[in-house]
Amino acid sequence: MKDHKAYLRSKERASAKEADELDSRDIRCPECGRKILVAYGDAAGHVSVYCIKCREVKKIDFKRFRTGKKA
Ligand SMILES: [Zn+2]
Repeated sequence: MKDHKAYLRSKERASAKEADELDSRDIRCPECGRKILVAYGDAAGHVSVYCIKCREVKKIDFKRFRTGKKA
């Protein structure tokens, strides 16, 4: 289990390093405007994100949420 955690951490570190090289933008909750996610330039497809303010899961399609302030 310890090895598995170390493996996951190494994957996170590699992901963070790659993300630092990409453009990013904030994705805001369509209901309340709260920042619920940061999308990077290579983000594609659909994700479910929980908005703690609305207490609801929002389903986001990145291609429909292309614009937004840079994070
Ligand atoms: Zn919300």
